[in-house]
Amino acid sequence: MTNDSPTLKSLAEFIALHPRLLVITGAGCSAPSGIPTYRNDSGEWQRNQPIQHADFINLAASRRRYWARSLAGWPMVSLAQPNAAHQALAAMEARDQISMLVTQNVDRLHQQAGHQNVIDLHGRLDQVICLTCQQVIERDTMQQRLLLINGISAPVALEHAPDGDAEVEEQLTRELKVPDCERCGGLLKPNVVFFGGAVPKTTVENIFSQLDQADGLLIVGSSLTVFSGFRFCRHAYRNGLPIAAINQGKTRADGLFSIKLEADCVATLAALEITNH
Ligand SMILES: [Zn+2]
Repeated sequence: MTNDSPTLKSLAEFIALHPRLLVITGAGCSAPSGIPTYRNDSGEWQRNQPIQHADFINLAASRRRYWARSLAGWPMVSLAQPNAAHQALAAMEARDQISMLVTQNVDRLHQQAGHQNVIDLHGRLDQVICLTCQQVIERDTMQQRLLLINGISAPVALEHAPDGDAEVEEQLTRELKVPDCERCGGLLKPNVVFFGGAVPKTTVENIFSQLDQADGLLIVGSSLTVFSGFRFCRHAYRNGLPIAAINQGKTRADGLFSIKLEADCVATLAALEITNH
């Protein structure tokens, strides 16, 4: 895409016309930072199903498997850096072009890029929460405890998967010792919403209320396959809010958009930034 392509121009006009934009971002935004995605351009699964909320809560074997894979997958997420999309969106916020950003990503890269008003719809991978006493600890602290009690110096990832997950030797998933909360002995869970888990009601209500004050919705790098993100798009459409989208590949909301750029969101936002200078 070139700077004067009509699609980029129409997106620039859409942004100029709607200074109270609410933005929803997805995996396409983080992929160039090295974070793998669940789905291909057709919205199909690329790998095995990720862990389900109920399995994590109910089955010790599932928790062992989760933490064994997370032990190997976390270092890559913790070292990931924001890319041109995160930076462009933060710059748009600084120019008062975005009122609120809702991300379906759990990697905190928007905040690292300096974005101020961000809602982490599916939580944040850099924290671990006790399901009994609600104490929150740093994921890095959990990493140190996991390594220490298992006598591991450096975990090996055979292949990285989305959301800090990784393929590891099967033996590790069977034998890993998982620490409990140091304060109360409760179960520790990453502070994210797993598949099959629910986004907190207060978060959802807050976003609906932000949407009602917004004058437009911009979707960046998301197929909106998961209902937790799609419902905001549907709500916006029903209320007559114009919706623009930048996504490589089809989305669940294709019929609801005023403008859709079928393009890589990072390249598109980078090109848009250039036109602003
Ligand atoms: Zn606790």
